[in-house]
Amino acid sequence: MSTNEIKILLNRLFPIHRCLAGSANRETLKIIGEYIPLSILEIPSGSKVYDWEVPNEWVINDAWIKNSKGIKIVDINRSNLHVVGHSIPVHQHLSFTDISKHLHYLPDMPDAIPWRTSYYQPQWGFCLSYNDFSKLFNHNETFEVMIDSEHKSGSMSIGEVLIPGKTTQEILLSTYICHPSMANDNVSGMVLLTFLAKFLLDKICYHSYRILFLPETIGAIAYCAMHEETIKKINTGLIISTVGGPGPFGYKQSWQSNHSINRIIEDVLHQNHEEFLTYPFDIHGSDERQFSSQAFRVNVSSITKDKYYEYKAYHTSQDNLDFVKPEYIAESFDIYKKVINMLDMDLTFRNTNPWCEVMLGKRGLYPNIGGAQVHRAVNSNTAYNSRDAMLWLLHFCDGSRSLFHISLDTGFPIRLLFDAAIELENQGVLQLCATSDNVS
Ligand code: ZN
Repeated sequence: MSTNEIKILLNRLFPIHRCLAGSANRETLKIIGEYIPLSILEIPSGSKVYDWEVPNEWVINDAWIKNSKGIKIVDINRSNLHVVGHSIPVHQHLSFTDISKHLHYLPDMPDAIPWRTSYYQPQWGFCLSYNDFSKLFNHNETFEVMIDSEHKSGSMSIGEVLIPGKTTQEILLSTYICHPSMANDNVSGMVLLTFLAKFLLDKICYHSYRILFLPETIGAIAYCAMHEETIKKINTGLIISTVGGPGPFGYKQSWQSNHSINRIIEDVLHQNHEEFLTYPFDIHGSDERQFSSQAFRVNVSSITKDKYYEYKAYHTSQDNLDFVKPEYIAESFDIYKKVINMLDMDLTFRNTNPWCEVMLGKRGLYPNIGGAQVHRAVNSNTAYNSRDAMLWLLHFCDGSRSLFHISLDTGFPIRLLFDAAIELENQGVLQLCATSDNVS
């Protein structure tokens, strides 16, 4: 994957006026589907999903404000962010005082257009820069406002790819597709996950990967409601969001800070000599809120480059293609790839011969001449060797501890344990478990 390929997809997805449900989301998934074999789930409007209801599709045909001379001073054709997302239709003449109640701007960022939505309250509104508001809205004028929109029954679209691995031990990779025309939040997430899925499709994976493109919150809730047993069995996961800014790497911890996913991310960032920020788990954020909720308790983290909430351009028109660069997404992709390579090795095995010691010699896995070898004590400075790795694996692998935990207990690098485990598996001494419990 080259930065040019990233740029092409970034430029194609950026202009689309996405919302929670509608044709723009289907168009987004159609483009992503040109890269990876997406299955599309359409969930009918009005479906009850736990405490929520799937919204109607939002159709936005046109939106503008004209001044008393009939000149369009705000026009959706100049920016998708100009209209409050999910606005109801309106066509009225209003005084300055009345129209002001429907205008959103940021005095501390006078050039930026904020992004605002009203998903669940029937309202309408416009967003504009504070400079435009100050310059174009005269207190004595009357303004004509027009929003040509519809809320129609249809369906909410979710894109999914399931990449089967050698086991059904499953890792979730999810991003959201409901934001219009903002590059870091979250076209960068969609682009990175598309290329990550491509990478996994070309790789021989041990884990299975469940890859989701869904509207934030309501999409994740609906997916959980429809796949309850599947989500409960997921080992761990990553929400891919805000991965393309110029700022530092950061990662938001999963709900159990000592879970292997967090340790693996930290190891990878350290090995990459990256300065990074650590954000403890928080009840605010993205779809980790749903997957970590009481019924599911999946440990889901996020690696970010200019994390949502933290950068100034967040949820404004300044989160654009000048702010996000393909090179930054490529850097994040590299980190995600390394984390996934590590996660993929974190498998759970069971010793098929738990009755006393397995005879490695007859399988060609032990030196034929006894008495000469140096044994490596746990945490000693003696070099690691694969024979001791095998002995530790045979001691610990009982179907309840993943290689990551055995690595912590023994000090052996996970890669060495993984290679030894695969060799033992080839000899039939270890057996890959279908699933591991979610021990932290
Ligand atoms: Zn957002």
